[in-house]
Amino acid sequence: MKNQNPPPASGCYVNRELSWLQFNGRVLEEAEDPAQPEEEIDPVQAAEMEARQKEAARLLAQKGLTKQQKEALSSRMGKDESLFCLLKEGELTRADLVYLSLPNGRFDRLDRYSAWAAEHPKDGAEEVVLQVNMDQDQGFYSLIWETADPSSLTVLVNKHYTLSASYVPQLEALGRDYGSGSLRPEAAQAFRAMVDGAKADGIALRSVSAYRSYNQQKNTHNRYLKQYKQAVVDTFSARPGHSEHQTGLALDINVASSSAHFENTPAFAWLKEHCAQYGFILRYDQGKEDITGYRFEPWHYRYVGVETAQAVMEQGLAYEEYLALQPS
Ligand SMILES: [Zn+2]
Repeated sequence: MKNQNPPPASGCYVNRELSWLQFNGRVLEEAEDPAQPEEEIDPVQAAEMEARQKEAARLLAQKGLTKQQKEALSSRMGKDESLFCLLKEGELTRADLVYLSLPNGRFDRLDRYSAWAAEHPKDGAEEVVLQVNMDQDQGFYSLIWETADPSSLTVLVNKHYTLSASYVPQLEALGRDYGSGSLRPEAAQAFRAMVDGAKADGIALRSVSAYRSYNQQKNTHNRYLKQYKQAVVDTFSARPGHSEHQTGLALDINVASSSAHFENTPAFAWLKEHCAQYGFILRYDQGKEDITGYRFEPWHYRYVGVETAQAVMEQGLAYEEYLALQPS
Protein backbone atom coordinates (compact mmCIF):
# COMPACT_ATOMS: atom_id res chain seq x y z
CA MET A 1 0.00 0.00 0.00
CA LYS A 2 1.38 3.38 -0.99
CA ASN A 3 -1.46 5.48 0.28
CA GLN A 4 -0.24 8.90 1.34
CA ASN A 5 -3.72 10.44 1.36
CA PRO A 6 -5.02 12.38 4.35
CA PRO A 7 -7.13 10.49 6.87
CA PRO A 8 -10.56 9.58 5.50
CA ALA A 9 -13.58 11.00 7.28
CA SER A 10 -14.56 7.61 8.66
CA GLY A 11 -11.90 7.88 11.36
CA CYS A 12 -10.64 4.53 10.20
CA TYR A 13 -7.27 5.92 9.28
CA VAL A 14 -4.12 4.36 10.60
CA ASN A 15 -0.68 5.75 10.08
CA ARG A 16 1.37 2.88 8.73
CA GLU A 17 4.51 4.97 8.80
CA LEU A 18 4.90 4.30 12.49
CA SER A 19 8.37 4.72 13.79
CA TRP A 20 10.33 1.52 13.34
CA LEU A 21 11.94 2.46 16.59
CA GLN A 22 8.83 1.57 18.45
CA PHE A 23 9.68 -2.06 18.08
CA ASN A 24 13.15 -2.01 19.45
CA GLY A 25 13.35 -2.60 23.15
CA ARG A 26 9.64 -3.21 23.32
CA VAL A 27 9.29 -6.37 21.33
CA LEU A 28 10.55 -8.73 23.96
CA GLU A 29 8.80 -7.17 26.87
CA GLU A 30 5.58 -7.67 25.00
CA ALA A 31 6.46 -11.19 23.98
CA GLU A 32 7.44 -12.25 27.46
CA ASP A 33 4.70 -10.38 29.21
CA PRO A 34 1.96 -12.86 30.01
CA ALA A 35 -0.17 -9.97 31.29
CA GLN A 36 -2.67 -9.96 28.45
CA PRO A 37 -5.01 -12.66 29.63
CA GLU A 38 -8.38 -12.97 27.92
CA GLU A 39 -10.20 -12.72 31.25
CA GLU A 40 -9.15 -9.08 31.72
CA ILE A 41 -11.18 -7.98 28.70
CA ASP A 42 -14.56 -6.64 29.69
CA PRO A 43 -17.71 -8.17 28.15
CA VAL A 44 -18.45 -5.18 25.89
CA GLN A 45 -14.95 -5.29 24.45
CA ALA A 46 -15.17 -9.03 24.06
CA ALA A 47 -18.40 -8.71 22.10
CA GLU A 48 -16.88 -6.04 19.85
CA MET A 49 -13.86 -8.20 19.24
CA GLU A 50 -16.00 -11.13 18.32
CA ALA A 51 -18.08 -9.01 15.96
CA ARG A 52 -14.95 -7.68 14.25
CA GLN A 53 -13.53 -11.15 14.01
CA LYS A 54 -16.70 -12.45 12.34
CA GLU A 55 -16.88 -9.54 9.95
CA ALA A 56 -13.19 -9.92 9.13
CA ALA A 57 -13.70 -13.60 8.39
CA ARG A 58 -16.50 -12.66 6.00
CA LEU A 59 -14.40 -10.01 4.25
CA LEU A 60 -11.45 -12.35 3.97
CA ALA A 61 -13.47 -15.13 2.38
CA GLN A 62 -12.89 -14.00 -1.20
CA LYS A 63 -9.21 -13.10 -0.96
CA GLY A 64 -7.72 -16.38 -2.08
CA LEU A 65 -6.16 -17.10 1.31
CA THR A 66 -5.71 -20.45 3.04
CA LYS A 67 -7.93 -21.44 5.94
CA GLN A 68 -5.02 -21.01 8.33
CA GLN A 69 -4.23 -17.53 7.00
CA LYS A 70 -7.86 -16.49 7.27
CA GLU A 71 -8.09 -17.73 10.84
CA ALA A 72 -4.88 -15.97 11.86
CA LEU A 73 -6.01 -12.73 10.24
CA SER A 74 -9.53 -12.66 11.60
CA SER A 75 -8.21 -13.40 15.07
CA ARG A 76 -5.68 -10.60 14.75
CA MET A 77 -8.23 -8.16 13.39
CA GLY A 78 -10.62 -9.02 16.15
CA LYS A 79 -8.01 -7.72 18.58
CA ASP A 80 -6.77 -4.87 16.40
CA GLU A 81 -9.43 -2.42 15.34
CA SER A 82 -7.04 -0.39 13.18
CA LEU A 83 -6.15 -3.37 11.05
CA PHE A 84 -9.78 -4.33 10.79
CA CYS A 85 -10.57 -0.84 9.51
CA LEU A 86 -7.96 -1.10 6.81
CA LEU A 87 -9.39 -4.41 5.70
CA LYS A 88 -12.90 -2.99 5.64
CA GLU A 89 -11.79 -0.08 3.51
CA GLY A 90 -9.99 -2.32 1.07
CA GLU A 91 -6.61 -0.84 1.94
CA LEU A 92 -4.76 -4.13 2.28
CA THR A 93 -3.50 -6.04 -0.73
CA ARG A 94 -3.54 -9.82 -0.79
CA ALA A 95 0.24 -9.77 -0.23
CA ASP A 96 -0.23 -7.48 2.79
CA LEU A 97 -2.73 -9.96 4.19
CA VAL A 98 -0.36 -12.87 3.73
CA TYR A 99 2.39 -10.99 5.63
CA LEU A 100 -0.01 -10.02 8.39
CA SER A 101 -1.23 -13.59 8.73
CA LEU A 102 2.23 -14.49 10.03
CA PRO A 103 2.67 -14.01 13.78
CA ASN A 104 5.71 -11.81 13.25
CA GLY A 105 4.25 -9.84 10.33
CA ARG A 106 4.44 -6.16 11.28
CA PHE A 107 1.94 -3.66 10.12
CA ASP A 108 4.42 -0.77 9.94
CA ARG A 109 6.72 -2.74 7.65
CA LEU A 110 4.24 -3.71 4.92
CA ASP A 111 5.79 -1.40 2.35
CA ARG A 112 9.24 -2.73 3.15
CA TYR A 113 7.99 -6.32 2.76
CA SER A 114 6.59 -5.45 -0.67
CA ALA A 115 9.86 -3.81 -1.69
CA TRP A 116 11.90 -6.83 -0.52
CA ALA A 117 9.55 -9.25 -2.29
CA ALA A 118 9.88 -7.30 -5.53
CA GLU A 119 13.66 -7.59 -5.33
CA HIS A 120 13.68 -11.21 -4.14
CA PRO A 121 10.90 -12.92 -6.09
CA LYS A 122 12.02 -16.35 -4.91
CA ASP A 123 11.52 -15.56 -1.22
CA GLY A 124 8.32 -16.82 0.36
CA ALA A 125 6.34 -14.63 2.75
CA GLU A 126 8.03 -16.03 5.86
CA GLU A 127 11.46 -15.29 4.47
CA VAL A 128 10.43 -11.79 3.36
CA VAL A 129 9.12 -10.96 6.83
CA LEU A 130 12.16 -12.44 8.56
CA GLN A 131 14.66 -10.57 6.38
CA VAL A 132 12.91 -7.22 6.68
CA ASN A 133 12.31 -7.63 10.41
CA MET A 134 16.07 -8.11 10.69
CA ASP A 135 16.54 -4.88 8.70
CA GLN A 136 18.38 -6.78 6.01
CA ASP A 137 16.71 -4.46 3.51
CA GLN A 138 18.83 -1.62 4.91
CA GLY A 139 22.58 -1.60 4.47
CA PHE A 140 24.60 -1.61 7.68
CA TYR A 141 24.90 1.91 9.07
CA SER A 142 22.78 3.24 6.19
CA LEU A 143 19.71 4.00 8.27
CA ILE A 144 20.26 4.37 11.97
CA TRP A 145 17.68 4.55 14.72
CA GLU A 146 18.32 5.41 18.32
CA THR A 147 17.19 2.59 20.58
CA ALA A 148 13.84 3.35 22.19
CA ASP A 149 14.65 1.71 25.51
CA PRO A 150 18.40 1.59 26.11
CA SER A 151 18.08 0.24 29.64
CA SER A 152 16.01 -2.79 28.63
CA LEU A 153 17.88 -6.03 29.38
CA THR A 154 16.86 -7.24 25.94
CA VAL A 155 17.80 -4.08 24.05
CA LEU A 156 19.07 -4.57 20.52
CA VAL A 157 22.21 -2.62 19.70
CA ASN A 158 23.70 -3.30 16.30
CA LYS A 159 24.55 -1.56 13.04
CA HIS A 160 21.01 -0.22 12.77
CA TYR A 161 20.26 0.65 16.38
CA THR A 162 22.42 3.03 18.35
CA LEU A 163 22.75 4.22 21.92
CA SER A 164 23.11 7.93 22.57
CA ALA A 165 26.60 9.16 23.38
CA SER A 166 25.41 10.13 26.84
CA TYR A 167 23.93 6.73 27.75
CA VAL A 168 25.74 5.26 30.74
CA PRO A 169 24.12 2.32 32.54
CA GLN A 170 24.26 1.61 36.24
CA LEU A 171 27.45 -0.39 36.70
CA GLU A 172 29.02 -2.78 39.15
CA ALA A 173 32.66 -3.90 39.20
CA LEU A 174 33.03 -7.59 38.44
CA GLY A 175 35.59 -8.05 41.18
CA ARG A 176 39.20 -9.13 41.17
CA ASP A 177 38.52 -12.86 40.84
CA TYR A 178 36.38 -12.33 37.75
CA GLY A 179 38.63 -10.27 35.53
CA SER A 180 38.53 -6.64 34.51
CA GLY A 181 35.74 -4.16 34.11
CA SER A 182 32.17 -3.68 35.18
CA LEU A 183 28.69 -4.64 34.00
CA ARG A 184 25.13 -3.79 34.91
CA PRO A 185 24.33 -5.45 38.25
CA GLU A 186 22.09 -8.16 36.71
CA ALA A 187 24.76 -9.11 34.20
CA ALA A 188 27.61 -8.84 36.70
CA GLN A 189 25.87 -11.20 39.09
CA ALA A 190 25.09 -13.66 36.29
CA PHE A 191 28.67 -13.52 35.04
CA ARG A 192 30.10 -14.24 38.48
CA ALA A 193 27.74 -17.21 38.83
CA MET A 194 28.86 -18.44 35.42
CA VAL A 195 32.53 -18.13 36.31
CA ASP A 196 31.91 -20.06 39.53
CA GLY A 197 29.96 -22.73 37.65
CA ALA A 198 32.73 -23.11 35.09
CA LYS A 199 35.34 -23.28 37.81
CA ALA A 200 33.50 -26.22 39.38
CA ASP A 201 33.86 -27.95 35.99
CA GLY A 202 37.58 -27.16 35.84
CA ILE A 203 37.19 -24.28 33.38
CA ALA A 204 38.74 -20.87 34.02
CA LEU A 205 36.82 -17.85 32.73
CA ARG A 206 37.57 -14.17 33.19
CA SER A 207 36.47 -10.90 31.70
CA VAL A 208 39.01 -9.13 29.54
CA SER A 209 36.68 -6.31 28.47
CA ALA A 210 33.21 -5.51 29.77
CA TYR A 211 31.47 -2.10 29.80
CA ARG A 212 32.99 0.45 27.44
CA SER A 213 31.81 4.05 27.27
CA TYR A 214 30.89 5.80 24.04
CA ASN A 215 34.19 7.68 24.10
CA GLN A 216 36.28 4.59 24.78
CA GLN A 217 34.63 2.89 21.82
CA LYS A 218 35.21 5.96 19.69
CA ASN A 219 38.91 6.00 20.54
CA THR A 220 39.32 2.26 19.93
CA HIS A 221 37.45 2.43 16.64
CA ASN A 222 39.43 5.46 15.48
CA ARG A 223 42.68 3.72 16.36
CA TYR A 224 41.75 0.82 14.09
CA LEU A 225 40.83 3.26 11.33
CA LYS A 226 44.44 4.43 11.25
CA GLN A 227 45.47 0.87 10.35
CA TYR A 228 42.59 -0.43 8.22
CA LYS A 229 39.87 0.78 5.88
CA GLN A 230 36.42 1.49 7.33
CA ALA A 231 34.88 -1.55 5.62
CA VAL A 232 37.45 -3.82 7.26
CA VAL A 233 37.21 -2.20 10.68
CA ASP A 234 33.43 -2.54 10.53
CA THR A 235 33.74 -6.34 10.48
CA PHE A 236 35.33 -6.45 13.92
CA SER A 237 34.88 -3.11 15.67
CA ALA A 238 31.59 -1.33 16.30
CA ARG A 239 31.26 2.34 15.52
CA PRO A 240 30.71 4.46 18.63
CA GLY A 241 27.14 4.19 19.89
CA HIS A 242 26.76 0.83 18.16
CA SER A 243 28.77 -1.28 20.56
CA GLU A 244 26.99 -3.73 22.82
CA HIS A 245 29.74 -3.05 25.34
CA GLN A 246 28.11 0.36 25.97
CA THR A 247 24.95 -1.38 27.22
CA GLY A 248 26.88 -2.82 30.18
CA LEU A 249 25.39 -6.18 29.22
CA ALA A 250 28.17 -7.57 27.03
CA LEU A 251 31.69 -8.72 27.66
CA ASP A 252 34.67 -10.46 26.12
CA ILE A 253 35.76 -13.60 27.91
CA ASN A 254 39.39 -14.78 28.22
CA VAL A 255 40.54 -13.32 24.88
CA ALA A 256 39.41 -10.79 22.32
CA SER A 257 41.26 -11.74 19.19
CA SER A 258 40.63 -14.11 16.29
CA SER A 259 44.26 -15.22 16.25
CA ALA A 260 43.86 -16.77 19.72
CA HIS A 261 41.39 -19.32 18.25
CA PHE A 262 39.29 -19.31 21.38
CA GLU A 263 36.76 -21.45 19.48
CA ASN A 264 39.12 -24.43 19.84
CA THR A 265 39.39 -24.24 23.62
CA PRO A 266 37.51 -26.23 26.29
CA ALA A 267 36.42 -22.88 27.72
CA PHE A 268 34.56 -22.07 24.50
CA ALA A 269 32.93 -25.51 24.40
CA TRP A 270 31.83 -25.04 28.01
CA LEU A 271 30.43 -21.58 27.29
CA LYS A 272 28.52 -22.73 24.25
CA GLU A 273 26.87 -25.44 26.29
CA HIS A 274 26.24 -23.50 29.50
CA CYS A 275 26.13 -19.75 28.85
CA ALA A 276 22.35 -19.68 28.34
CA GLN A 277 21.77 -21.20 31.80
CA TYR A 278 23.24 -17.99 33.15
CA GLY A 279 21.39 -15.71 30.74
CA PHE A 280 24.17 -15.14 28.20
CA ILE A 281 24.22 -15.69 24.46
CA LEU A 282 27.05 -16.08 22.00
CA ARG A 283 26.35 -12.89 20.11
CA TYR A 284 28.44 -13.10 16.91
CA ASP A 285 28.40 -16.71 15.88
CA GLN A 286 29.96 -18.40 12.90
CA GLY A 287 27.62 -18.48 9.91
CA LYS A 288 25.71 -15.40 11.09
CA GLU A 289 28.11 -12.81 9.69
CA ASP A 290 25.64 -11.52 7.10
CA ILE A 291 23.07 -10.90 9.79
CA THR A 292 25.26 -9.45 12.53
CA GLY A 293 27.76 -7.76 10.26
CA TYR A 294 30.61 -9.09 12.42
CA ARG A 295 33.20 -11.78 12.08
CA PHE A 296 32.85 -14.78 14.36
CA GLU A 297 33.65 -13.63 17.89
CA PRO A 298 33.73 -16.75 20.08
CA TRP A 299 34.69 -14.60 23.08
CA HIS A 300 31.85 -12.04 23.01
CA TYR A 301 28.80 -12.79 25.18
CA ARG A 302 25.70 -10.75 25.80
CA TYR A 303 23.40 -10.96 28.79
CA VAL A 304 19.70 -11.11 27.81
CA GLY A 305 18.22 -13.10 30.73
CA VAL A 306 17.87 -16.86 31.08
CA GLU A 307 14.59 -17.41 29.25
CA THR A 308 15.60 -15.44 26.16
CA ALA A 309 19.14 -16.82 26.20
CA GLN A 310 17.88 -20.39 26.25
CA ALA A 311 15.53 -19.75 23.34
CA VAL A 312 18.30 -18.11 21.31
CA MET A 313 20.98 -20.72 22.02
CA GLU A 314 18.73 -23.79 21.71
CA GLN A 315 17.54 -22.67 18.30
CA GLY A 316 21.00 -21.57 17.17
CA LEU A 317 19.74 -18.12 16.22
CA ALA A 318 21.47 -14.80 15.86
CA TYR A 319 19.87 -12.36 18.28
CA GLU A 320 18.54 -10.37 15.31
CA GLU A 321 16.84 -13.53 14.02
CA TYR A 322 15.32 -14.29 17.37
CA LEU A 323 13.88 -10.78 17.66
CA ALA A 324 12.64 -10.83 14.07
CA LEU A 325 10.67 -14.01 14.76
CA GLN A 326 8.87 -12.61 17.79
CA PRO A 327 5.12 -12.09 17.41
CA SER A 328 4.28 -8.51 16.62
ZN1 LIG B 1 33.12 -7.74 22.61
